[in-house]
Formats: sequence, structure tokens, C-alpha cells
Amino acid sequence: MATCEVCGNDYWMAFEVRTVSGDVHTFDCFECAAHKLAPICEHCDVKILGHGVEVGGRFFCCAHCARNEETQGAEIRDAVGSRPA
Ligand SMILES: [Zn+2]
Ligand SMILES: [Zn+2]
Repeated sequence: MATCEVCGNDYWMAFEVRTVSGDVHTFDCFECAAHKLAPICEHCDVKILGHGVEVGGRFFCCAHCARNEETQGAEIRDAVGSRPA
């Protein structure tokens, strides 16, 4: 048994997540893991649950948000499904 560090639920299927810094966190569900660990888009404030977009150390949920904040502007594109220029 392990206790979720977000909600406190003591749950037999709780799991651990190891981050890039080496920290290990325990959660009872993905929602709690996202609440604690997911980065937040600097443009629209949503939790970034997919790959997201990183530009110069800043995180965005998508290329649209990155284009609105970064000087690279039109150069930033979503990797999947983007139409060739
Ligand atoms: Zn939880
Ligand atoms: Zn966004």
C-alpha cells in the first residue's frame, strides 16, 4: 500500500513517478500526478499533458500558444499534423 501525496488516498494500485531531477513521487491516479507534476502553458494556463512545446525553457501546450508569446513567431509549428508551408 502507498499513499498519494496529492489527495492522501491509501490505495493498493498507487504508483511512483521518477522525474528528470531524480525525485520520486507517489500517486493513486494520473489526475493527481498531473496536478502535481504537469507543467502549465505560459499562454493559456492549461496543464500540459501531452508533449507540449518548449521554446527557450518556456513551456506551452501547443504551437499556437508558443507563437503568441515568442519572437520566433511563425517558425513554431505543431509537430504532428502540421501542413507544409
Ligand atoms: Zn490522489
Ligand atoms: Zn496554451
